[in-house]
Amino acid sequence: MNARTELPTGTDLLAEIDRLRRERNAVILGHYYQKPEIQDLADFVGDSLDLSRKAAATDADVIAFCGVRFMAETAKILSPDKTVILPDMDAGCSLEDSCPPEQFAAFRAQHPDHIALTYINCSTEVKALSDIIVTSSSAEKILSQLPADQKVIFGPDRNLGGYLMRKTGRDMLLWPGVCIVHEAFSETELLKLKAQHPGAPVAAHPECPAIILDHADYVGSTSGILDYAKAMAGDTLIVATEPHIIHQMEKAVPEKTFIGAPGADGNCNCNICPYMALNTLEKLYVALRDLSPRIEIEEGLRQRAKVSLDRMLAMASGTVGLGDLGPLRAN
Ligand code: SF4
Repeated sequence: MNARTELPTGTDLLAEIDRLRRERNAVILGHYYQKPEIQDLADFVGDSLDLSRKAAATDADVIAFCGVRFMAETAKILSPDKTVILPDMDAGCSLEDSCPPEQFAAFRAQHPDHIALTYINCSTEVKALSDIIVTSSSAEKILSQLPADQKVIFGPDRNLGGYLMRKTGRDMLLWPGVCIVHEAFSETELLKLKAQHPGAPVAAHPECPAIILDHADYVGSTSGILDYAKAMAGDTLIVATEPHIIHQMEKAVPEKTFIGAPGADGNCNCNICPYMALNTLEKLYVALRDLSPRIEIEEGLRQRAKVSLDRMLAMASGTVGLGDLGPLRAN
């Protein structure tokens, strides 16, 4: 025991987390952007929606979500009967912060002929105000199913929205939010890195600004980048997303080399998500012990948010068209 905090340490801490996991009948989810020691003890490691869906399919009573708050809220939306805990309730997201629900509602009211296609990186309240939620992997497919003359608001990530506009040729009204992590990559430093590793492809997340994406050989979700890393023919990849994903790449293909794209001074930690970094093994232990901090969502709000999430799941599966989904909020 650590006398100051009265928490177990070292291997005792790992053993205690394991004991609590069993006693609580808990499933531990680790996002790709979590520290390696959290990824390594998680029952599932992945992207946010994928994790929430996997947890919903288990018979666990408790979901311990090692990620950020909007992800844990998504898990609660899909699993209302499970207890959902988040090791640190301050683990927010700059995209969520950029889009306060009351401002988003006012923006929607100014554009009554637009539907709202909203990136999953937002609060439950904004999900409830949206028509269809998208992820970085499903956005293009869902956008392609909307009638060409349908006007669209896309938020909160202007970089993902701009990427979709360039890729599809479709105009959208963009909410001006950014991910502070992906916004921090430096084109100058990236070009220097490319010069040092000639022939190494660049894989980038679409939350990066266009000036970075223009140098990417592959653009996709974090899972997509991981798949690209496994499948690519070369032996070195430059990775322009949160660098903790590299842990999974090194586990999957240890013979390859993965280099995180640099931030502004070429040597900063500005591409490590400060919100994700708030979660620690100690906080996970306390959360499992106390079943707190706990995600609670008022039932009416949860159901309204679930409508827009369910639309995404139906449209992403490709088996349901927009016309089968009931009236959108703009209509
Ligand atoms: S990496 Fe960016 S989008 Fe993801 S949680 Fe951190 S701030 Fe939000």
